[in-house]
Amino acid sequence: MADSIAQLWDSKDRNAAACRLCRHACTLLPGQWGLCGVRHNVNGTLYTTTADRVAAANLDPVEKKPLYHFLPGTRTFSIGTEGCNFACGFCQNHALSQTVKTSRRMSAGTAVTPEGIVEAAGGCGARSLSYTYSEPTIFFELVKGCAEQALRRGLKNILVSNGYESRPCLEALGPLIQAANFDLKAFSDAFYQKICNARLAPVLDTLRFAKKLGWWIEITTLLIPAVNDAPKELDGLSSFIRDELGADTPWHISRYRPEYLFTVPPTQTARLEQAAEIGKKNGLRHVYIGNVPGHPLNHTYCSTCGALLVKRDGYHTTLPKSKICPVCATALPGVGWPE
Ligand code: SF4
Repeated sequence: MADSIAQLWDSKDRNAAACRLCRHACTLLPGQWGLCGVRHNVNGTLYTTTADRVAAANLDPVEKKPLYHFLPGTRTFSIGTEGCNFACGFCQNHALSQTVKTSRRMSAGTAVTPEGIVEAAGGCGARSLSYTYSEPTIFFELVKGCAEQALRRGLKNILVSNGYESRPCLEALGPLIQAANFDLKAFSDAFYQKICNARLAPVLDTLRFAKKLGWWIEITTLLIPAVNDAPKELDGLSSFIRDELGADTPWHISRYRPEYLFTVPPTQTARLEQAAEIGKKNGLRHVYIGNVPGHPLNHTYCSTCGALLVKRDGYHTTLPKSKICPVCATALPGVGWPE
């Protein structure tokens, strides 16, 4: 495997390369690597280590992304590479996302082609491809190649992302992607700066823009005790979802467990339920609690009458006969429900 010439960058003076792929907008001199750990300048040309290899590939329930309102009950062929443009101290996938930055080695993984990935996805019955596990922005070239092939074969494309794509990146992916789960990790710029080495405002801009692109969007927040769970902050976060993305946008509040650099104890279920109440009080119609097996807020209820419509037992989903509530005739929002 050899590194590939990257897309979305400009040449600058002194053989510098200005990367335009994500909101960090790194300008790299020869020999330098971007914050993502996978793009680097070689004699004035920007290369990527992630265009032709994957570090993880699995057939997953789409609910695992999590997407609860997009092709529910189907499987999605999921791929990811090493590297990430964030540096979250609580990363639940840090071996994949962060190791490459400190080891300064080329990304490991299995050699792949977009054709081969789409062939594998189609062969195992997937209805979609998901670009996930680490951060798909930083394997943009592979995402683009796979997504083009997938659409030709009638498969959909899903991003699971931190929302730090640049506008040119979003514009390029716009017609290729049909659904995304974006992390909205907190509603505090200080949190993004201190813990993720990023900023909040660009993430909010990405979410607004992705909505305009017509993608089906769901939001995930990993709730960390005493770090991002202040009621005022959750009030702002859930109000943003309602006002900018729409009250039908599912909000997944996910239980944190200590990982990587974080030793804060796991989130108590009561804190997750308080957060869910804030979201519902602010008008969000589909609020879910994740990483708590058997919790009632893992199911889908009618937003008008409260009838139980979709049961989930782990990643087993029992679909309704119709997306129309049999009690009050309200339609479930989303894509791919039984008619
Ligand atoms: S993808 Fe982002 S972090 Fe990586 S080199 Fe480009 S601008 Fe920097």
